[in-house]
Amino acid sequence: MNQRSGCVIVLSGPSGVGKSTVVGRIREMYPDLEFSVSCTTRKPRPGEVDHVHYHFIEEEDFEAKVAAGEFIEHAGVFARRYGTLKSEVLQRISRGADVLLDIDVQGALQIRAAAEKNPELAKVCEFVFVGPPAVEVLEKRLRGRATESEEQILLRLAKAKEELSHWRDYDYLVINDDLETAVADFAGLIRAFRLRSCRMNGGRFDD
Ligand code: 5GP
Repeated sequence: MNQRSGCVIVLSGPSGVGKSTVVGRIREMYPDLEFSVSCTTRKPRPGEVDHVHYHFIEEEDFEAKVAAGEFIEHAGVFARRYGTLKSEVLQRISRGADVLLDIDVQGALQIRAAAEKNPELAKVCEFVFVGPPAVEVLEKRLRGRATESEEQILLRLAKAKEELSHWRDYDYLVINDDLETAVADFAGLIRAFRLRSCRMNGGRFDD
């Protein structure tokens, strides 16, 4: 039997907060951490690889997966759809792996609501929010990206502000002001998640 069951690390943070950079560093530090590849109906950006960054699928396929109950959660973001497949998460957890979900607030709240009704799910989920040191910093970072039109930037900014209002729905807040500090804070959380007694399987001291 595995010494512990894995956990689902639900990570959200607004566009421009530097979440991908933090996650990239965490992947280097914890090569055994697994990542859920989401389905999306948006088109790949330059450099994005199908089945690595996302499973890029058509609207009809997405709808079929919703109908078949294949998603743990799904949400509409910027008029596109995103969803986490059960097949990306459940088996990995039962074999003791920790799985990171980089999803938006709507999706995280769906998982939170499901966990409130299901103690087994609550036991495996950890909710982490990555925030900016200040709202203005986000706007500056979003504009610095230059890959998006003004209209997209304004959309992302409005969504970012909405997302920020939910930071208290998460158990942990990591502020990405200084990248090294944010990475160290997140790494510290992962270490703590791996020490949760409620996920340790029996047999250590009690038989
Ligand atoms: P992007 O299109 O920039 O890759 O992602 C846009 C937003 O969608 C980000 O906030 C990202 O975290 C979120 N997202 C990515 N995958 C999923 C998913 O499976 N479910 C939900 N709810 N959001 C997702």
